[in-house]
Amino acid sequence: MGGGDSERLSDAEWNRIFESKRKEALLDEARDPHRENKKHKVDFCDEYDAYYVIETGEWLEPKCKVKKCPFCVNRPKKKKK
Ligand SMILES: [Zn+2]
Repeated sequence: MGGGDSERLSDAEWNRIFESKRKEALLDEARDPHRENKKHKVDFCDEYDAYYVIETGEWLEPKCKVKKCPFCVNRPKKKKK
């Protein structure tokens, strides 16, 4: 072991890593329900384990794919006020 030079990444490698990190960040942002906060007031519903828009009662998340999920099975189309 010696010389840190072998640890150094080339510009191309850096760019590749940077690009993939940036894409991940964009995806995370797209997935993040809190992002909706900027446009709509959202709240978390403990009863159905999902975020919803307070104004309209629309859910921000689709029902999960778990069969007989106790949260989703009884979830109405819109959150009741
Ligand atoms: Zn569920």
